[in-house]
Order: sequence, then C-alpha cells, then structure tokens
Amino acid sequence: MPSELVIVYHRQPYEEVVENGKTVFRENKSPNGIVPTLKSFFGHVDKGAWIAWKEAEDPSNPTFERTIEISDQYGDYTVSRLPLTAQQVSSFYHVTSKEAFWPILHSFKEKYNYDPVDWPTFREVNWAFAEAAAAEAAEGAVVWIHDYNLWLVPGYLRQLRPDVRISFFHHTPFPAPDIFNVLPWRKEIVGSLLACDVVGFHIPRYSANFVQVARSLYDVDVTKREKVADELINDGTALVERSVPTSITYEDRDILVSACPVGVDVDFISERSDASETLDKTATIKQEIGDDTKLILSVSRTDYTKGGIEQLLTYERLLERRKDLRGKVRLMHVSVSANRNMAVYEQIQGEVEQIVGRINGRFGSLEWQPISLISTAVPFRELVAYYRAADICWITPLADGMNIVAKEYVAARTDEDGVLVLSEFAGAAVEMSASVITNPFSHKSMDTTIDMALDMEPEDRKGRMQALRATLRHYDIQAWAKEQHRLFEAAGKHGTGKGNVQTAA
Ligand code: UDP
Repeated sequence: MPSELVIVYHRQPYEEVVENGKTVFRENKSPNGIVPTLKSFFGHVDKGAWIAWKEAEDPSNPTFERTIEISDQYGDYTVSRLPLTAQQVSSFYHVTSKEAFWPILHSFKEKYNYDPVDWPTFREVNWAFAEAAAAEAAEGAVVWIHDYNLWLVPGYLRQLRPDVRISFFHHTPFPAPDIFNVLPWRKEIVGSLLACDVVGFHIPRYSANFVQVARSLYDVDVTKREKVADELINDGTALVERSVPTSITYEDRDILVSACPVGVDVDFISERSDASETLDKTATIKQEIGDDTKLILSVSRTDYTKGGIEQLLTYERLLERRKDLRGKVRLMHVSVSANRNMAVYEQIQGEVEQIVGRINGRFGSLEWQPISLISTAVPFRELVAYYRAADICWITPLADGMNIVAKEYVAARTDEDGVLVLSEFAGAAVEMSASVITNPFSHKSMDTTIDMALDMEPEDRKGRMQALRATLRHYDIQAWAKEQHRLFEAAGKHGTGKGNVQTAA
C-alpha cells in the first residue's frame, strides 16, 4: 500500500537488536529527541513510510531485509532500508557531509576539506534515497526530507515523481553566500532545493541566508516578505533578523521558505524532572558536590562548533581571577564524541583532555577537583537529574543550529531556579532572551557573563527562569509539529503537488 507521508531521514526510527539469535526492533532507548516527534506524524495518516540506510556487507545479498513493517504506538509504517556498503557510508556521511558540508554550514571555512570528497558516490546515495521515496509515495503524498546529507534528494525525486509535495527541513545553520558558495557543488545543491515546495529552517537568519544564496545562483524572485514574530527578536543579538522572505518563485514554481525553531516536549521533561527517582538522584549529586559548592554544567558533542575549548579556557581564567571560587565551584563538562573515527574530532577530544588535565593539576587538591570531564553519553534520565542539580547551564557554541540542551535545561527547571548562560551564536538565543547571553568570541563577554551567573541573586534567577519557561512553551515541540503540518497543507495549494492528503494535526 502506498504511503501518504514518507519521511526521509538518514537514521532508522528504532533500535535493531539481536535477542536470543533473533533480530528484534525496539523503541529507541531515549524517548527524547526528534525521532519520536517525526514518528508521531504517522498518527495522522493511514499509512506512512520511513526511508533510512543500513550498512550491509554485500548490498546485493538477497537475504538483506530491505523493508520491514512496523505497527507501534505511532501507527503503521513501512521502514525502507537502503543497503549501503561501509565505503559508501564513509564517503557520503563521514567525508562529504561531515568534512565538507558541516564546516561550511557552520561558517568554519578553515576546516573545510575538499580533497577526499567523492561526489559521484554522494549523488549515487542520494539517488537511492530518492528512488526509495518515490517507490513508497502515494499520488500527491508528502515527502519530508531531513538535513544536508540528503540535499540532492528533492531534485531527483521531482524528476521521478512530479506529483508529490516535497518539504525539506534543515537541522543546522545555513550560511550566507560568501561562505556557502565555497562549495563547488553549490548550483547542483541549491538547484535540488529549489525543486521543493517547502524549504524549512530553525530561525529567520538561516532562511534569509538561503534565499540570498539561491538568488546568487539562480533567477529567484522573492514574492513575500514578512515581519519576524516579536518572540524571535532577542534585540541586538547576533542571529536576529527583523523581516524575512517567506515565499519565492523559481521557473514558475512557488516555494515556501519557513523558519520555525524546533522545541522540546516540555511536559515530558518536566514530568521526568519531578519524578521521585530524579529528585533522589539530584539530591545525591548535590550531596556529593557539597552544599556550598556551585555546579556548572556543560553538555555537548565533541565538535569544534561547540566551543568546548574556549569555554574551558574561560573557566581557567575564572579560577585565576577569583580565588574566592577555588573549592567552591565544580564544572561538569560533558563532551561526547559522536564520530570517534574522524581525525578532526579525535584532535579536539585530545585538546579538551589536555586542558582539563592542566586545570585540574593547577588548581585541584585531594579534596577538590575543579572539572569532571565526561566523554561518554549520559543517559537522558540521568541528564535530567544533572539539569535539576546544576546552578548554571553553560552553553557556549561558536555556531549551532538550535541547541536543544539549553531548552532541556529550562524544561527541567520546574523549581524555577538555575541560570542559563547561552551563546548568541546558538539558534536558540533568538528566542531565549531571558538567558544570560554571551559572546564566545570575546574573553571579556565570556568572563563577565559567567561572573554574573555565579553571583546572580535568587530573585533575578527566578524571574529569568519563569520568563524562559514561558518562551519554551511558545515554541515547544507541538508548536513545531503543527507548523510543519500547516506547511504540508499550504504546499498542496501552492506547489506542483496535487495535494489529496489530509495531514492536519
Ligand atoms: N544528550 C544526551 N546525553 C549526553 C549528551 C547529549 O542524551 O551525554 C542529548 C541531549 O539531551 C540533547 C541532544 O543529545 O537532546 C543534543 O542536542 P543538541 O541540539 O544540544 O546538540 P546536537 O548534538 O544535536 O548538535
């Protein structure tokens, strides 16, 4: 049976484990994150499909289980797995996407690595995703494609299936033409994105940049420009835009350009935070740290975009500057390596370990360790207890599409305490005006904001946290999902798709 909604996302929507020699499909261990939200869309259609890849030793092996049918709490859907060789995965994902696209998306030209890119393989893999989506989609279906590693899918899919509605969401930043046009494949990538009915981003700056890039490469006209909602104007901060193009045309086709920040499930996280097991764990953490010691929490993947090194150096300056804090503050620096096999991440991990070692050696004693470095992922249920225990959540990326950790911290603070220090270069900063906004490119800004957070009076903390929690509710995960549904519907009326599908929330 063809599907009315096809989600194209590189990762599979469940965990595949072998139990007693049998393969079983389990819900993802972490109930948090984007995957459950995407799956929830299947609840609105009779039949859905999910396209992902799965590594296969021999993709032509007839025993490879290409499609599986899942019936779970979210609905009935087919998961179509593309068999990719380890070499294809490495080339399309670890090399082209992570070594060439990722640095450019985050404006790190100096990290951009062109040489190892094998463009024919990138095309081949994207073509395979497009073919799989075309095979699953019903007449006029919505095909919802996620992220830059699938940039060429819309163009291929439009050739294969002119009838479908194509929506593409970017989970990363999108840079201005001066940076984006470093990519030699820019025309092909943007040409593919212009085959969409909807191109989506987290915040207006990224959608504005996309339109500028498109106009630098093609004869694209802006047909609608709108004022940005007040809630997304954190006045004077780096990523704010005041008006933004929301509709463009290219070769007689209308394309909606959307900016809607992905949020978190505030109720789910609040409930987890108030659960007695979390409160017990929080009490234990606080006891271990000591009543008169402040806990600063930093959580991220090990990535040069996340600014871990700059943050650790700020902490070193803090301990140098403020002798009063020695023995009275602890930094828990969670830096999880997601791509251990990549040289660039190994190098940062090495640097982080070296700086942490130096700071602990310089300032630590038998009784007090200034930094706890955690390099393996903390399970979400435990992370919530740390959010709850932390006096400060210190989020200082140099560039970040959104930053969900910042939002999770606020969602977990049902007690309306705690201070969020947030880089103005995280997408989340445009909404989270009540956080302490910092600029990780300025020592002065980093130093004064961490001081301000450490010294903040309880009343000020409470006022800011109340305001942050109200903001969080405005752009929560339900609001994001609702907006995506609205865009699917609007695409049916707007674009080339025939739009016979009811996907209303
Ligand atoms: N996370 C986790 N355990 C860890 C570190 C991170 O569960 O030890 C989760 C965190 O709760 C959040 C996500 O990983 O949901 C990170 O999202 P974010 O947007 O902050 O960063 P990304 O890695 O997507 O750039």
